[in-house]
Amino acid sequence: MAKKDYYEILGVPRNASQEEIKRAYRRLAMQYHPDRHPPEKRKWAEEKFKEISEAYEVLSDPEKRKQYDMYGQSPYDTTGFSWENFTRMEDIFDLLKDFGFFGDFFRDIFGNAWRQTTRTGYQTAQRPGTRRGEDISVNLELTLEEIARGVEKQIRIRRYEPCPECAGKGSKTGGWQTCPTCHGTGYVERFTRHGFITFAQRSPCPTCGGKGYVLKEPCPVCHGTGRVMKEVTLSIRIPPGVKGGQTLKITGEGHVGELGGPRGDLYVNIIEKKHPVFTRRDRDLYAEVEIPVSMAVLGGKVELKDLHGKTVTVKIESGTQPGTVYRIPGRGINGGDLYVKAVVKIPHKLSKDARKLFEKLREMGL
Ligand SMILES: [Zn+2]
Ligand SMILES: [Zn+2]
Repeated sequence: MAKKDYYEILGVPRNASQEEIKRAYRRLAMQYHPDRHPPEKRKWAEEKFKEISEAYEVLSDPEKRKQYDMYGQSPYDTTGFSWENFTRMEDIFDLLKDFGFFGDFFRDIFGNAWRQTTRTGYQTAQRPGTRRGEDISVNLELTLEEIARGVEKQIRIRRYEPCPECAGKGSKTGGWQTCPTCHGTGYVERFTRHGFITFAQRSPCPTCGGKGYVLKEPCPVCHGTGRVMKEVTLSIRIPPGVKGGQTLKITGEGHVGELGGPRGDLYVNIIEKKHPVFTRRDRDLYAEVEIPVSMAVLGGKVELKDLHGKTVTVKIESGTQPGTVYRIPGRGINGGDLYVKAVVKIPHKLSKDARKLFEKLREMGL
């Protein structure tokens, strides 16, 4: 059997989840923060801190925990635990940083271990309380011309931006303190009595949202969230050839996270506006042109403007049948083709002269 009961040291049950273990460790790390104890108790706090760190090192590692659970063995049974063995610095790093833990304690106790962690870049880890911002989804209507050419669109959205008052920190000082409601546990218990039985119901602490710590002096403008809602105009480049129903993801243009957390993403849902002339199928375009009976019989040409504003000339051959489709290569979207259907226009009303001519044609059997 191992010399130490790691579960007891962290105060968690044997079936505790990784999340519970981590939370317990963070809570205890704050409790045994050597700077929070008077000089005569400092040594004791440091020992305690080392003890919980050893327990956490073993229980937070699935392999080590399995060995420990099954055989009661800890890798530190014989050699003892030293700070060089501690690999879980990042789990408390930010918490401690915001408590000003980088004082003498780190230099004296962590020694080489601490220098290692700075080299591997734990400084980039998120500050406590930060959360990635939410995504934003917007609809964007585009004409076929804009789709064919590609376009830079200005869109106005309401988006969380860093609070200008506290620069996104949530407070002027950026300091943290143990949550006064839950005393750092992250949860509150409510007791209800049914007859002789008392039920305890555990729920996330409403004050700190389960984090166990709160800002010392919350910013009055953003109420400690570090962000405020603003209306912003964004410029979005739409590449040529997008389709209705398609969604473009623009990374990092969503809401900013709480307390300076990274931004979410922006999703732009493309909606195709109906075009008066063209209908679209993928890259190809379809249009109909009306031609008079005489042109269908004798031939001629019709012109229309493509989506780039350039003139397309369609040569109508003599003897064109109604519904004949002409393919004009490369004049669709992104190199697709344009299909022009010739619709022969039968006159509704005829002038006297025209009527005479048609009667003449009838005599000729046409
Ligand atoms: Zn709380
Ligand atoms: Zn603020």
